[in-house]
Amino acid sequence: MQSPGAQTTRNCVSCGRTISWDANVCPYCGHDYRGTMAGVPQKKETAMPTIGGILILLASLLYLVGGGVVTAGSSFFISVGGGAGVVCGVGLLILGIISFLGGIFAIQRKNFAIALIGGIFVVVTVIGLIGLILVAVSKDEFEN
Ligand SMILES: [Zn+2]
Repeated sequence: MQSPGAQTTRNCVSCGRTISWDANVCPYCGHDYRGTMAGVPQKKETAMPTIGGILILLASLLYLVGGGVVTAGSSFFISVGGGAGVVCGVGLLILGIISFLGGIFAIQRKNFAIALIGGIFVVVTVIGLIGLILVAVSKDEFEN
């Protein structure tokens, strides 16, 4: 004789007690099986922070290269007013370094504030602008 209810019970994955096979919710611990069936809504992750971060990184490289060229070029003419050029070049380098960090943080989905600042610094470039938008709209995906 088949034991009654052989196919009609199962053990709750949460508390281990025997519950009805088709129970939606465990009567003992309240574990909700409808959620696991339908797929528990998890933190949504898109490629936007990664793409945005890469774009910000690329834009920051433009700044670093441009800043390097301006600094080096201006320093040749420092006696004839190249000093301002050096200041501009160094400024570009600093912006480039900060936005480079911002791009890396964006790819890692960390430090939203720095990622955003990095994007703002490169906003004058088209890829920087797109990167900033992608980072800004995916704020929820960042850890902080
Ligand atoms: Zn349970």
